[in-house]
Amino acid sequence: TDFCVQLPKIEVHAHINGSLSPQTMRALVARKVDMNPELAAFEIPDSLDRIDDFFSLFKFIYQLTDDEVSVAFATQQIMEEFAADGVRYLELRTTPRANSAKGMTKASYIDTVLTTIATKCPAGMLTKLIISIDRRNTLEEAQYTVDLALKARECGFPIVGVDLCGDVMKGSFEALRPAFERARQQGQFPLTLHFNEVKENMHEAPELLSIYPERLGHATLLDDPSRAIIYERAVPVEICMTSNVFSKTVPSYEDHHVKELLEEGHPFILCTDDKGVFGSDLSNEYVLAANTFGLNREQLFEASFKSIDAIFANNETKDQLRAIWGAWKNQHQ
Ligand code: IMP
Repeated sequence: TDFCVQLPKIEVHAHINGSLSPQTMRALVARKVDMNPELAAFEIPDSLDRIDDFFSLFKFIYQLTDDEVSVAFATQQIMEEFAADGVRYLELRTTPRANSAKGMTKASYIDTVLTTIATKCPAGMLTKLIISIDRRNTLEEAQYTVDLALKARECGFPIVGVDLCGDVMKGSFEALRPAFERARQQGQFPLTLHFNEVKENMHEAPELLSIYPERLGHATLLDDPSRAIIYERAVPVEICMTSNVFSKTVPSYEDHHVKELLEEGHPFILCTDDKGVFGSDLSNEYVLAANTFGLNREQLFEASFKSIDAIFANNETKDQLRAIWGAWKNQHQ
């Protein structure tokens, strides 16, 4: 466990609102309880076995991060927790959210997250933002999200990519495709798409792959044509073991599809998805992979080191990170 905490790590699949720790949730409840006494009644889960309803937990979290000060606080806490867990390069992701009652707009939400990243990122870690488009969005909403991404980057903020996320049973990629195409064409933004999480949306795979995403989230279920394309293009897969097992898209750790990627030598990045909701830090995901698939320290280091290839950053940043990893390895041999 200590080794996995100390190991320098890359995190690239972490939804901000799913990453609030129980401590952060409690601190936000304390700030807000006078205005909203109902918050005190919600039982904040401390461990996975107490979570039985993710939907109500997200609803609760959204009540906590419904104003700019709280969003800034949550973002800062999340960065500090990832840094304390040995993360050296972090790509957070979030869906722009408005709350007219508190004067928060989608633009001010994203601006708050980015300003916090720019001013409060702990030393020794880089943090970037991927902007998420929710599957339930209309095309107009999705285009507005792309507007926000383009504008923020013009202002010099570190927005590095665009994501498709949300309830896989809702909406369709095709309806939102023009927004992703514009993100790619006007912004040269790399794309990461939540991919084949459940059987019911596997039919979308050819459409999702036809936009040439730079990375895929989960890619739980692969039929032969998708597998062939993903392997041929060597598309890195963001792997979230705890999230998949607890949301029951994968039957058990032993059956997790990362096993296949390990055997095939296909690029993957171990990630947390929603470390607060699922109660698992990134170091714990490394421990899980090690225990489940018998990985030794060398293999864990390799998994972390190779993840650098898949980050949404330029070669200079990747080389800087490789040097940090190399120095760490020299010190720990
Ligand atoms: P936010 O974008 O910061 O608000 O992060 C929370 C959102 O991420 C949730 O509302 C979900 O729609 C989305 N999300 C979290 N985990 C998953 C997942 O495993 N698949 C798809 N979407 C997810």
